[in-house]
Amino acid sequence: MARWLSLGCYPLFFLYSSSSASQTPSAKRSLTLPNHSTPFKKVRPTLDYGGWNKPRPSTLAQPQPPLQGFSNLGNTCYMNAILQSLFSLPSFSNDLLKQGIPWKKVPANALLRRFAHLLAKKDTSCPEVKKDLLRRVKSAISSTAERFSGYMQNDAHEFLSQCLDQLKEDVEKMNKTWKSESPAAAWDEPPQQATAARPGEEADTSRVYTCPVVVNMEFEVQHTITCKGCGEVVTKREQFNDLSIDLPRRKKTLPLRSIQDSLDLFFRMEEIEYSCEKCSGKAATVTHKFSRLPRVLILHLKRYSFNAQLSLNSKLGQQVMIPRYLTLLSHCTDATRPPLTLGWSAHAAMDKHLFLSYSQSGDLANSFRLISVVSHIGSSSSSGHYISDVYDMKKQSWLTYNDLDVSRTQEATVQMDRDRSGYIFFYMHKDVFEELSELERTGSSGGTSEAGRTVLQPL
Ligand SMILES: [Zn+2]
Repeated sequence: MARWLSLGCYPLFFLYSSSSASQTPSAKRSLTLPNHSTPFKKVRPTLDYGGWNKPRPSTLAQPQPPLQGFSNLGNTCYMNAILQSLFSLPSFSNDLLKQGIPWKKVPANALLRRFAHLLAKKDTSCPEVKKDLLRRVKSAISSTAERFSGYMQNDAHEFLSQCLDQLKEDVEKMNKTWKSESPAAAWDEPPQQATAARPGEEADTSRVYTCPVVVNMEFEVQHTITCKGCGEVVTKREQFNDLSIDLPRRKKTLPLRSIQDSLDLFFRMEEIEYSCEKCSGKAATVTHKFSRLPRVLILHLKRYSFNAQLSLNSKLGQQVMIPRYLTLLSHCTDATRPPLTLGWSAHAAMDKHLFLSYSQSGDLANSFRLISVVSHIGSSSSSGHYISDVYDMKKQSWLTYNDLDVSRTQEATVQMDRDRSGYIFFYMHKDVFEELSELERTGSSGGTSEAGRTVLQPL
């Protein structure tokens, strides 16, 4: 640790700022990829809106209840789009709702509880009830991050980051509180909020509850710095909830660049300025590899650059290919840990042959499959509109959520229509995807009486 701190002014670990509005400049990266100040290209509205305003043929023969999204409370499409993408992840929602968190012991104003409440009610409540639950989620976020308190347009990625961080903190507090046996110690909350559990809802203080964000989205990257003078190696591991990646600059002679290119660009080996403790050398190389993979990899494409003249974040409407699969193989090592298994479904007796069959299928290991895209339509991060396309595993169909409106779409349409507006991409580890699909097909991931009982707890 001390050695690491002695590295001094090396800027690497400031590069991974999750905020699109405050990209920290890096001398090294700036050389090859300057903060774009290219003129904003007008987004083609007919293409960008194509996914949701045109009726599309339904792929289901059976009549279904009408789908309904979330009301816009006033420029809250950034929140709606993010929530729909998160809620559509079955492993995430199961970890939140089905591990038996004794909700009465969680303060009523905690994001964790409000989030779970909205998730549990999203498909069964009327818009007015959901509006109220949405307001509660928004105010739980605003109490920590004031910029979300009004009704101004906000950046969806900043909202996502805040959401994930705050949920993590809530679970930490919850586990800490129950360990220390003083219910309100960790919460900024009057004690009466966290008492009076009903019989049968006593918190099991010996139990540590799983954080849905940690087990689903969190991953670890190992940075390895090698001195060019003496070969001294220094490593550092870093945890992320998501990755902010640059738009690869397009050269006219080259084919269209893709999200895979952006990801590969992030993981490329770099030469850096470096003061070696051992030989006083001044140069080193640094490589980055996944040391632990997530179930769901969230990629934030840095489409905004700050325009000092206009004092706003202008958007780079550059076209980017959205592949169905990403492969992380070249960014992993033999020691890379796979995503955490679906613990909540352990009783479902998943056969090992599923995993074996995929590793033998000829497809590359550690592939991730596209499951959701949050898109921004408009010219700057403070204006425009957010929508989200999600793959609904239960319906085995793609849906476009545009505030209250929900429509069916196709994967190919999403890939095509969001090439200039796609902003945040959710990719699920293929093994996890197959396991979850199998569970949905066999009906063992939900709808049981046990699940139903647990789902009602946030009420
Ligand atoms: Zn050295």
